Amino acid sequence: MPECRLLIATTSAGKLREWKQLLSDLPMHVQTLAESGIDFDVEETGATFRQNAFLKTEAYGRASGLLTLAEDSGLCVAALGGGPGVQSARWEGDDYDHKNALLIRLLEGKSGSARACRYACVAVLRHPDGRTWDARGEVRGEIARTPAGTGGFGYDPVFFIPRLGRTLAEVAVDEKEKRARRSGASLPSGFIAGAAC
Ligand code: IMP
Repeated sequence: MPECRLLIATTSAGKLREWKQLLSDLPMHVQTLAESGIDFDVEETGATFRQNAFLKTEAYGRASGLLTLAEDSGLCVAALGGGPGVQSARWEGDDYDHKNALLIRLLEGKSGSARACRYACVAVLRHPDGRTWDARGEVRGEIARTPAGTGGFGYDPVFFIPRLGRTLAEVAVDEKEKRARRSGASLPSGFIAGAAC
């Protein structure tokens, strides 16, 4: 029987780390883009997380010929009209100290629900025969008044969860995933294994 392999198709080190942990009970070999010899980026031209997630899964799935999991995710801030949303990775460059400080500045003077934000994530699984499955998850919080924590990645230091009294950068990865949208969007391990083997 051929070895069962799953490609986690992301160029984000933070996402890769969290997906690997989430899928650690999978009875199959989880492989990265680099291990597959794939080094191209997929242009995110979609207007929604779902469209971009499908664009990435399709491109990397075809290039690798493997069972492939890709996602698109981002931070949506109510006071910014839902932005940066699908532009989260590109909004204001790639220096997260700057991006996070700017978010705090833009929300100056606002409190409570006026600081509401959510992370959204759509994950798509693609079988080599072209079949796809998708799932969506999200977590709600508030933009913190000051960045806190060194864990996680991206906007995590300013993503404050009131009921925890902490930002996502202050909680352990398994705690973050218990609360966070990546878990919600993750297709169950048993399902992924069933699609492949
Ligand atoms: P994309 O899905 O490649 O477009 O990138 C999503 C962007 O959203 C990332 O580059 C981060 O800026 C942000 N993001 C997505 N998920 C997380 C997370 O779990 N923590 C912090 N930032 C995230």
